[in-house]
Amino acid sequence: YDSLGSLGKSRAKFISASETTGVTFDDFAGQEYIKKELQEIVKILKNEEEYQDKGIVCPKGVLLHGPPGTGKTLLAKAIAGEAGLPFFAANGTEFVEMFMGVAASRVKDLFSTARSFAPSIIFIDEIDAIGSKRGGPDIGGGGAEREQGLLQILNEMDGFKESTSQVLVIGATNRLDILDPALIRKGRFDKVIRVGRPSRVGRLAILKVHAKNKFFRSEEEKQVLLEEIAELAVDFTGAELQNILNEAGILTARKDQDFITREELLESLNRQKGTFKTGQEDSSDVPQDLKIRLAYRESAIAVLACFYPESNRPFLETDIFSVSSKPNIKYAKTSAEAFLKKSDYINAIVRACASRAIEEEMFGLENVSWVSAKSSIEALECAERLILQTGMTALSKAFYRKYSDVVPNLAEKLEVLCAAYLAFAEEKCKAILRECRPAVEMVTEVLLEKGAIKAEQIWEIYKKAPRIPQQAVNE
Ligand code: ADP
Repeated sequence: YDSLGSLGKSRAKFISASETTGVTFDDFAGQEYIKKELQEIVKILKNEEEYQDKGIVCPKGVLLHGPPGTGKTLLAKAIAGEAGLPFFAANGTEFVEMFMGVAASRVKDLFSTARSFAPSIIFIDEIDAIGSKRGGPDIGGGGAEREQGLLQILNEMDGFKESTSQVLVIGATNRLDILDPALIRKGRFDKVIRVGRPSRVGRLAILKVHAKNKFFRSEEEKQVLLEEIAELAVDFTGAELQNILNEAGILTARKDQDFITREELLESLNRQKGTFKTGQEDSSDVPQDLKIRLAYRESAIAVLACFYPESNRPFLETDIFSVSSKPNIKYAKTSAEAFLKKSDYINAIVRACASRAIEEEMFGLENVSWVSAKSSIEALECAERLILQTGMTALSKAFYRKYSDVVPNLAEKLEVLCAAYLAFAEEKCKAILRECRPAVEMVTEVLLEKGAIKAEQIWEIYKKAPRIPQQAVNE
């Protein structure tokens, strides 16, 4: 982007802008329903008057939320690119850095510049830095400053009502939970869209986008290899998938080879996987309280696996050697996935809640940590998969027909339904953990003592350990 500094407005230097971004929706792969929703908005943006005559107004703001690297920035640029509108990018943290009293005027500058180019698009990445809950914990200081900035954003967005110059504000965050609710009230960010980690199908589509400018021996080989990587790269974001291909390209060049082969792809996949690890393989110098967390996590997951013995994911063993937000439990390979019932999906959501649930049970709601982060995302993804991709819920038809207009407001309905499944699964999971608490404690103890435990021993403990009837617990 060109820096607006070149326009001679020194105070607005932090804003980058370009006439149009050149990015289109074709650059974003997977999660088709998100594209359909945003395409609708672009249509309204482009033909503002036509729609106004019909009484349809463009949303003031779109909030994209999800883990880093899932393509939120890419989507914002695609909206600008498709609509052919000027794009002003800022980062929430830029508003709160600097001196007192600057945040509000920076926001003001940003909006007035965007308005002078209207119709245009403002993109505020990491909007949580300025838009977190008022009165909450003041992380990193600058609380008053942030509040001024946030109030200014709210004012500016409300101000659009009178003005005819259309500015669409797109916000992005990976911390929806800490956002000030005032931001998502009607007339502000009234479209909230979750951008999640891609499914296997989505991963393949993303890999294909980023493999376009890479060389493979043949189209057939490329297809086979990308399918394998999509299968293996569970939990990877779009940015991480793109990295796999870039690294593979570099490795290929280093070897003076003309084509990317399986070897380079697998090597770079494993390198990427390594970056997930937050610590080392050897747990000898891991602090004791972290070890306890890891042991409870693995134990809770294992006990839940015993509770649902008909599961398609029988487990082999687990340990606390690897310090990562990803559970260490190892599963056996089975072909049972070919026939999954709705109850299997629901049980999978319940199982995926185990890490977070045990942390909440043992350490309290306020003391959950990154140790259970990956599993919490898994629970959400299980729920999304069930709702959209299985044909087992009312919303599935939108996915199969590939039109979001089959189901109006798909993203919002998805949010609501997801939340309902997750709330149910969390409660169910906690009830199971309470009932099986003695088994959880015993497996945890073995893990803390030995560092690892096999499935056989877990089963033995699970069968012998007493159960705590739930009524007794509730009294
Ligand atoms: P976020 O804003 O969510 O942190 P970005 O939009 O910055 O993520 O993603 C970084 C890069 O990763 C993008 O520029 C793009 O190259 C790639 N990427 C991420 N998600 C996708 C996707 N769904 N399809 C294609 N590329 C993607």
